[in-house]
Amino acid sequence: MTTWLLDGGPVAADAPVSRTGGVPLAPAGTVWPVCRACAGPLRFLAQLVLDAGVLALFMCAHRPGGCAQWSPSAGGNLALLLPAGGLVPVPVPRGADPEVLALGAVRAALAAPAVTAGRAVLGVLGGEPDWLQYDETPGCPGCARPMEFAAGLEEGPDPVTSMNFGSGRGYAHVCRGCGRAAFLWQC
Ligand SMILES: [Zn+2]
Ligand SMILES: [Zn+2]
Repeated sequence: MTTWLLDGGPVAADAPVSRTGGVPLAPAGTVWPVCRACAGPLRFLAQLVLDAGVLALFMCAHRPGGCAQWSPSAGGNLALLLPAGGLVPVPVPRGADPEVLALGAVRAALAAPAVTAGRAVLGVLGGEPDWLQYDETPGCPGCARPMEFAAGLEEGPDPVTSMNFGSGRGYAHVCRGCGRAAFLWQC
């Protein structure tokens, strides 16, 4: 069954809820992740509170399209499956451009069984992925088994503050057994 993620309006940048934008929460001591293609700090996209843990999604914003941001394995994005407890805001890297690190708005993502008039759809939780191109289910980097679809993300309702999936859609997968996650997008 599909659970929709609906725009719940503005929320605190460090709120421990499902949201797009703001600052990432992670275990104390976590260093802000960097792009494996260009070595710049990644942009934090979203955190989603799942049964399996807290999913944190990042993508490079230094060279849009230039770091294979769509790929689940090239390192131009990053998906982390974190334990639900004890998460704290990750310190922002000194000297980095805030626009490169964060989206322009923070929105709560409300899980709902149906779409509500007047609330933009931010994505979905679980169910079957609605692939825009072809089935691109990633293999787990830990155990090589096909990963479980966890969430789909739309770019967001406001183009100025939105994620950049080339006008497409993002797909997050997890492996509960290995505690791993992967992110990719299609357009
Ligand atoms: Zn990059
Ligand atoms: Zn695995």
